[in-house]
Amino acid sequence: MNKEGVEKVINELINIEPNKIKKHTVIINDDKPLFDKKDFDTIEGKPQYFELDSKGRSNGAIALISKNTLPLITKKKLKYPEPSNWNKAFENKKLFEKCHIIAYSLSAKLANPNNIFIGTVKLNKSYMKKVENEVRKYINDKSAKILYRVTAKYKDTNKIPIGVLIEAQSIDDNYSICRFCYNIQKGKKFRYSDGMTVGEKQIWSKVVQTVANKIARKNNRKNGYTNYTINIKTKIFHLYDNDCKQLENAEPKNIQETTATEKDLLAVGLKCCKNCVKDN
Ligand SMILES: [Zn+2]
Repeated sequence: MNKEGVEKVINELINIEPNKIKKHTVIINDDKPLFDKKDFDTIEGKPQYFELDSKGRSNGAIALISKNTLPLITKKKLKYPEPSNWNKAFENKKLFEKCHIIAYSLSAKLANPNNIFIGTVKLNKSYMKKVENEVRKYINDKSAKILYRVTAKYKDTNKIPIGVLIEAQSIDDNYSICRFCYNIQKGKKFRYSDGMTVGEKQIWSKVVQTVANKIARKNNRKNGYTNYTINIKTKIFHLYDNDCKQLENAEPKNIQETTATEKDLLAVGLKCCKNCVKDN
């Protein structure tokens, strides 16, 4: 198979309806990758992370990995930068993780933002890991040097790739891998455009929104950035942007907006609303 052939196969794979995907990992071209001659110029221990695309998405990376690049010590908690397009919503679902393109376990390189994408827990901890472990074992067993490339495959303008193509070629013998791993999670449906869980859209967006707003408000208040609404009749102040129920029937003439801090407001004898301010 030539390059166009492989591209065509991958195109077909990423266009399959998610519910029609049969295998999470598909062997492509009999596990034979298609590296260019210049790919073999990749320097051992110096992974090349591809530029983010015009949508700000990470695309992939290539590395020459060997016994030298397998980490001597694996720290349990690696600090991950946030992938492009990542937001708090992804953290609340226990569905997505910040995934390495080239695994730490192969490169011993701390995460570069271009080396991170949004992947399912299953892709990260199981499908990709299986391939990575196989490659690592081969390196350990044979002391082989392996040219290793992972490419994220997106559909249209989606923020989340449909899957990743993993290619590996030993430069010492014929060992090779060419596999496409789907970025899926059994029993979960989500939109690749934004990670919204299908069927849970409203519930999730509401929960996520509320939590995010609460955190934002807390931080703002700590830093004195929150604005308040004062009902000068009841002498109670409320969060400015909260549309507190207690303010529903207040007369407009009694409503004042202020940038004063909570401390200031308390100091002049106002009380905070137990409904909106205390709750946040
Ligand atoms: Zn209130």
